[in-house]
Amino acid sequence: MAKAIETPIQFLKGVGPKKKKLFTRLGINTVEDLLDYFPRRYEDRSNFVTISKLRPKDLQTVKGTILIANLRKSWRRHLFIFQAVVTDKTGKIACVWFNQPYLKDYLKVGREVILYGMAEEHNGRLQLNNPEYEILEEEKDNLSIGRIVPVYPLTEGFTQRFFRKTVKECLDEFLPRLVEVLPFDLRSRRKLLNLAQSLLNIHFPATFELQKEAYQRLSFEEFFLFQVPVLLRKLKIKQAAGISHAIDENFVREIINGLPFKLTFSQEQVLGQIKKDMASSRPMHRLLQGDVGSGKTIVSFISSALAVKAGSQVAFMVPTEILAQQHFENFRKLFSGNRKIKLSLLTSGLKKEEKQNLYKKIKSGDVDLVIGTHALIQEDLQFKRLGLVIIDEQHKFGVSQRQLLPAKGKLPDLLIMTATPIPRTLSLTLYGDLDISVIQEMPGGRLPIETRLFNEEGRAKVYDFIRSRIQVGRQVYIVYPIIEESLVLPARRTGGDLRAAEKMYDELKTKEFKQFKVGLVHGRLKEEETQKVMEEFRKGKIDILVATTILEVGMDISNATCMVIEHAERFGLSQLHQLRGRVGRGSEQSYCLLIANPETAESRLRIKAITELRDGFRIAEEDLRIRGPGEFFGKRQHGLSVLRIANPLTQMHILKDAREEAIKLINQDPGLRLRQHAAIRELIGKKYPEHKEVILGG
Ligand code: ADP
Ligand code: MG
Repeated sequence: MAKAIETPIQFLKGVGPKKKKLFTRLGINTVEDLLDYFPRRYEDRSNFVTISKLRPKDLQTVKGTILIANLRKSWRRHLFIFQAVVTDKTGKIACVWFNQPYLKDYLKVGREVILYGMAEEHNGRLQLNNPEYEILEEEKDNLSIGRIVPVYPLTEGFTQRFFRKTVKECLDEFLPRLVEVLPFDLRSRRKLLNLAQSLLNIHFPATFELQKEAYQRLSFEEFFLFQVPVLLRKLKIKQAAGISHAIDENFVREIINGLPFKLTFSQEQVLGQIKKDMASSRPMHRLLQGDVGSGKTIVSFISSALAVKAGSQVAFMVPTEILAQQHFENFRKLFSGNRKIKLSLLTSGLKKEEKQNLYKKIKSGDVDLVIGTHALIQEDLQFKRLGLVIIDEQHKFGVSQRQLLPAKGKLPDLLIMTATPIPRTLSLTLYGDLDISVIQEMPGGRLPIETRLFNEEGRAKVYDFIRSRIQVGRQVYIVYPIIEESLVLPARRTGGDLRAAEKMYDELKTKEFKQFKVGLVHGRLKEEETQKVMEEFRKGKIDILVATTILEVGMDISNATCMVIEHAERFGLSQLHQLRGRVGRGSEQSYCLLIANPETAESRLRIKAITELRDGFRIAEEDLRIRGPGEFFGKRQHGLSVLRIANPLTQMHILKDAREEAIKLINQDPGLRLRQHAAIRELIGKKYPEHKEVILGG
């Protein structure tokens, strides 16, 4: 039986097929979706500012009548300019909109409008540039004036008035029939509004205080529902029977003693935690966090070798082919001679026959350790005794991709690694089903990377510097933010003045650096070609490697001590940090030269941050602050991007409370079988289908 709240949107009064399409575009298909579609902001229209009282550089709302309206085209600037003068009984204000010629059909002389925007000085007078507008109808419009009014993020074709009216009608009709999700005792403990009051006040706040309470309650609910399944998953793992690996301590010491360096205290500590997990009969489920360059790889290599020694197969997944190749080579070097491990490399570039052969060997148990890209999660790949799964640079994979690989074994141990350190409360939430280990310090003897900013005029200096590095025997990366790597750059930003890596490469090797050996790698090269170039660079046969962001993850070539990043303003902050982390991996002084022309406020912030900050933790925090959690974690990183209203950055304390309550709930009722928890169970099943089995299996 369908619930009232699941009523399709087109059953509402005034919503025909045309409007339905618009709603669908906003992701609204049901009444529930509509009630969960929250305002972007509010305007206090209980009192308007009068036009004579408008202040410059302030967001304000005024109400008035259109006195003059005029559309013209500016040929010189290829722009449509729509101008209007609006008046109330205290004065007049000029308004300008650019490139919205259709406004002439809406903002007609004599109409009464509400305008919201920033007043700015223009030729000595105040003017509103591109203000948001709303036309008032003759009839008394009590949802749009005389109160705190919600403003929704809408698409073209919707008016705020229509949307408000629909939401209001929906609230009136469905609120009384809503099922409360949060149990009564929880709400009273945490002093939370009930669901009906919250929805009412998030859409049509009676006061700003109530709006705030509604916001807190709805955020709490989101955080809570988000964490329950994650914690259930953790509980389930803690109770499951996994593989108990016999840890050979002598073997570990032998490997460590053979290393050219001493493990840091953190590395030892983390390794200790991993060994304990692996020895335990419960499956390991651990996240290893450590800033770029902190030395996660060796920890994962030792863990892998231990698993093999104890009789397991190991699957080691990385996001790029060149990283797979690098790990493969390093592994081979570390485990040769009497510590021989049967090693394979699996990437999507393999020929069909080679691939089939390898599949056979893996299935028959003839391979101990396979390093590969996402090719490892192909359906027809099977293991004989998969006992340990390692996922490097896990933030490059989606949640479901992360789950596919362990599913190829019988509850194998799982170690996932990331170089994106995030605040603890946040990682507890996002990775709530994982135990977390952190490598706190960098290997000793590292000098801080010197980061310098240049603009186009400084290019000659940058080139001189590159020459000077090569002359002392070092190697250089030059990174470009380009080609069709739609994951990295949205298409709209790839055009125009970007210097394509290929073109630049041709130029550099024939002109500027013709006395040196220059190489090129990017994501669209054939695998063999990439391998060849990387091999030569690694051996020092190439001086300058021109590359795209495929270098971003994992590359570890310590003689490369200088990185130039072109168009640095186009990279995200964390990405710049990861890229920069490709140098400064040894005891040599390293350099990162940014060539940038930051034009937006945001890109200036990013560039400022990367030149001033070194600590990955601080950088991640700053990046989160600049971009907000949705963008920061991206679509692939599922999880947090499902939060519609809650913001884990600004609502850390609510997040913490919600987590405590989620733990309480699970301790009390792990199967969510109690009547008062039925609504929670149902809602989680709906919101987080990927967690369904933990709840149903509870
Ligand atoms: P990441 O954590 O970014 O994956 P890596 O594991 O690639 O970092 O390590 C970066 C570099 O530091 C590598 O060249 C590695 O050999 C070196 N390294 C790792 N641990 C130590 C250590 N304890 N002392 C000195 N160098 C180390
Ligand atoms: Mg790494």
